[in-house]
Amino acid sequence: MAETVQTFCRICEALCGLEVTVDGDQVVDIKPDDDHVATRGYGCLKGLKQHRMYDTPDRLLHPMQRTDGELQRVGWGDALGSIGGKVRELIDSHGPDSIAMYVGTAAGFGVLHPVFAQGFMQGVGSANMFSSATQDCANKFAVARHVYGFPFTQPFPDLDKLECLIIVGANPAISKWSFLQVSNPIRRLKEVEARGAKIFIVDPRRTETAKVAGEHVFIRPNTDVFFYLSFLHELLATSGIDRARIDQYMTGFDELCRVAEAWSPERTAEVTRITAESLREMVRAYREADGAALYCSTGVNMGTNGSLAFWLQECINAISGNLDRAGGTLVSTGVIDFPAFGKKTGTLLHDNQSRIGGFPSVNDSMPGGILADEILTPGDRQIKALFVTGGNPLITMANSERLREAFQQLELLVVLDIQPSETASVATHVLPCTSPLQRPDLPFVFPLMLGLQSKPYLQATRAVVPPKGEQRDEATIYVDIAKASGVKLWGSAAAQRTFEAAKALHSIGRGARQPSIPQELLLSGLLRITKQGSFKNLLKQKHGRLRPEHEPGSFLGKRIVHDDNKVHLAPDVLVKQAEKLEAD
Ligand code: SF4
Repeated sequence: MAETVQTFCRICEALCGLEVTVDGDQVVDIKPDDDHVATRGYGCLKGLKQHRMYDTPDRLLHPMQRTDGELQRVGWGDALGSIGGKVRELIDSHGPDSIAMYVGTAAGFGVLHPVFAQGFMQGVGSANMFSSATQDCANKFAVARHVYGFPFTQPFPDLDKLECLIIVGANPAISKWSFLQVSNPIRRLKEVEARGAKIFIVDPRRTETAKVAGEHVFIRPNTDVFFYLSFLHELLATSGIDRARIDQYMTGFDELCRVAEAWSPERTAEVTRITAESLREMVRAYREADGAALYCSTGVNMGTNGSLAFWLQECINAISGNLDRAGGTLVSTGVIDFPAFGKKTGTLLHDNQSRIGGFPSVNDSMPGGILADEILTPGDRQIKALFVTGGNPLITMANSERLREAFQQLELLVVLDIQPSETASVATHVLPCTSPLQRPDLPFVFPLMLGLQSKPYLQATRAVVPPKGEQRDEATIYVDIAKASGVKLWGSAAAQRTFEAAKALHSIGRGARQPSIPQELLLSGLLRITKQGSFKNLLKQKHGRLRPEHEPGSFLGKRIVHDDNKVHLAPDVLVKQAEKLEAD
């Protein structure tokens, strides 16, 4: 008999609450959860039809291994044995950095998957981590580390209270927002506008967002940094700053002023095509509002000067007095103070350097753009094996032909996915994984650990349907790969032993084809350690449980990771880069 259960979507950051109707092991219908505490009955077509993708005849059911040039079905034992043997051989002959990993976006929307993938790579001892984030938002992480001391410190607009919102290079009507969980962005923006707030959409295109809310301001593509420079220039010229806050909580103000000095609205108008008058009108609206925020996303992030543009945006929000105030930009906390945890443990703060180009790591990840060269260029630390987990870099990354050539030279290419992909088509091994609806979960790291939610809440979900065939969850797969490779997860023999034993115990009676670590128990442990109660208790609140509202005034002088506890407005590396703009 069919029954309906509550869960939440894990395809994008909106994490819409869903009601899923299940008949036996089959999802037959998905509807938005009208009673969800935050997402209030919203869901998009992609989320509401996701079960069709999971039930496609192409869905991976069994491990595959390349034999005689063809991917052929093998048992888990054979697949793991062959992967583990190769990993051991490569570590012994070429060192740990010969093993690399690419973490895709799908991995990021679960809790256990990225943690165990990272645990495996730490056990290997390799610094060759790559991720989809380096393709479209590394600028935000890199700048946040310089300005606030931690890459995941990401202020977001206080949509409930702001009076002026300037969105640059973002299209939330389609993307459903980014670095902030906002359900039903179109309705949300209309609500913001309906209560009298002024919205500007700065974009080279009259986007879907610009069509439904705010005033569209055309900007010439890839000139965002000049828009921000003249915005800062005009803000300074019109005394739109909060000097007391700057003196108390920030450093580098004078250097920042010098950066903006030469960039009058008249000068940048020639480049951006935003007239000086229009620019001044935006600055006036921003300055006169009782709470305002500049927000940007992919269009800015992926531009030539994405880091400079985002840095200037953060500085403008900070010196205008909008950072950490109601109606401005907020810096929330999740179930723990994650930046403080990062500072204590070094998480996301490693300073690795790439072999090719000497690029610094961001979020402990190397730039995806050099992956092909890291594989194709002979020498020490050359990548010989790659794990692709929840991603499809042959489609998502630039220069896919060169990447394909590189992937074909790897001695080991292991793809963990739910269905075949371009990357899987050149893999040596393809491992069948559970879909989001086949695993228990909590909201992913941004809402859970950082509270990047316009309405803070928590929710737990069980697996809605069981795995089929020989599908396994990724965390379990990494426990097994580590064991087969003679690697200890996180470099800890105790952790490895514990997870192997937990898997063995939990798998009793589950059928030899679908063993699993006790995922719900681990998620429950995480909730208990962070004083959120148990997973089972959270499950009882089927539509989610609201968390305390964000606290403006809780960040400046209190939660900045830099040793001096101040916002660094003028990091050397960014100032020097900005000076080159002038030279150009
Ligand atoms: S907006 Fe995102 S989270 Fe919501 S249903 Fe669509 S894909 Fe899922």
